Amino acid sequence: MELNIQDTFNQKLPADLRIDNSRRQVFDACFSFVKPRVPSKPQLIHFSKEMAEALGINEEEVKEKYFLDVFSGSKVMPETNPYAMCYGGHQFGHWAGQLGDGRAINLAEIVHHHKRWALQLKGAGETPFSRTADGLAVLRSSIREHLCSEAMHHLGVPTTRSLALCLTGDQVLRDVMYDGHPAYEKGAVVCRVSPSFIRFGNFEIFARRKDKENLRKLADYTIQYFYPTIKETSSKKYLLFFHEVLSNTLKMIVEWQRVGFVHGVMNTDNMSILGLTIDYGPYGWLEGYDKGWTPNTTDRQNKRYKYGNQPYVALWNLFQLANALFPLVEEAKPFEEALEKYKIDYANAELSMLLSKLGIRESKKEDLELVESMEKVLELCETDMTIFFRRLANLKKNDSDEDALQLLKPAFYNPEELVGDVQSAWQAFLKKYLNRLCVENHSDQERKITMNKVNPKYVLRNYMAQLAIDAADKGDYNLIDELHQVLKAPYDEQVDSEKWFAKRPEWARHKVGCSMLSCSS
Ligand code: AMP
Ligand code: MG
Repeated sequence: MELNIQDTFNQKLPADLRIDNSRRQVFDACFSFVKPRVPSKPQLIHFSKEMAEALGINEEEVKEKYFLDVFSGSKVMPETNPYAMCYGGHQFGHWAGQLGDGRAINLAEIVHHHKRWALQLKGAGETPFSRTADGLAVLRSSIREHLCSEAMHHLGVPTTRSLALCLTGDQVLRDVMYDGHPAYEKGAVVCRVSPSFIRFGNFEIFARRKDKENLRKLADYTIQYFYPTIKETSSKKYLLFFHEVLSNTLKMIVEWQRVGFVHGVMNTDNMSILGLTIDYGPYGWLEGYDKGWTPNTTDRQNKRYKYGNQPYVALWNLFQLANALFPLVEEAKPFEEALEKYKIDYANAELSMLLSKLGIRESKKEDLELVESMEKVLELCETDMTIFFRRLANLKKNDSDEDALQLLKPAFYNPEELVGDVQSAWQAFLKKYLNRLCVENHSDQERKITMNKVNPKYVLRNYMAQLAIDAADKGDYNLIDELHQVLKAPYDEQVDSEKWFAKRPEWARHKVGCSMLSCSS
């Protein structure tokens, strides 16, 4: 395996002068050099062929011991200098100080086909940023991260990627529900891949410490390598940079809402400066459509990060980024204007996205009302989001509202609730929708094709990941691969995978790992 290594982050930016792993506050530096921990009995249990190809690694090379050595943390590639990034962040609305890569170790950056990729191990041991924790990750959360990042990529959602999933052979102690019942679990390491892992929090830490010099260095570096279309040289470039980050973040959120993804921990340290989904922790997928749903039990009281809040939280986080970049511009107004504009741009983008899910090509004035009535009926009784939109594509313009409702029945968790006012509301919405379709000038068949490109048939339902985890715990990794394969073509019919196009089974409704997740990972 020969990778075209071209490090920049650890070459161009200031390093911490200390090289030991002891926990500490790291000042005047963007990162600390660290060594991955050597696992006792590493084993590759899954890899993404597409990701390997994108990096210029072929299947033969994946099978070589060297691949396992590098991506389990056993060996450091020659002429590379692994490092952990220093960042801070706002957690659940409060400034949390220095956080940093507590269990992520960047191995190197490589360039393949003119694309830059940073390779990062998650769960490969302690760093100066590990605080009170062990720097390790368990198999459960590593499977979730590996499967979901690749699934999101194939759904067309901007995301960090995952190359490989390895068992370490070591045991890791975790208290899954934080209720005083710690138990040993299998340790694992995921190799994540992204053009860059820089977060909002990387900027926030310097602004908070009034370290304008390093703030500027980091911003200049980020613009040079990741926002190269910005040619401005005056301080206005930081504003243009902010506009780009804002726009990328907005696009990412629209995509999350489109597929029903709930991140679960949208702290500013979990916001990528490239607008990529990053840090797959207690995330979840909407089954019943419910704007108030969050998978994260740690957030159950306030539900700050519930599905319906994601667009606003992103704005709140962008406001924190604006604060962090302010010292480089020293003018508040343009930031305020950009943030104001986000609200309008988001509302427009969300409406277009929802109309595309409904198969409506050109928006009309009255469409906002149609979308609002759809959201209302979806929450009247538990309705599976994925199944609803996918089946909606089968409606014919000339169907009656009764027929249409009949066709949607498989999307309802309790079809017996479809009586009285609930039934009338659904029929009223469907009548409006069918009338609206009659004004569109594409055929039922054409509409179905376009709708099926934005309404996935297969998503990583919470229980699916849990089934793969339960099997993997017993040493059976087939389901990881089966799900990985299905989720590579989420918009295709895939007749052999029909069983994954089904409502969440009842046993999974209140099960830990399916509907209840914590940050313990
Ligand atoms: P998260 O909530 O996963 O985004 O993590 C927040 C912070 O805690 C980050 O700085 C992580 O690096 C750190 N962290 C999370 N889990 C661990 C762990 N097991 N060991 C060390 N640091 C961790
Ligand atoms: Mg994080």
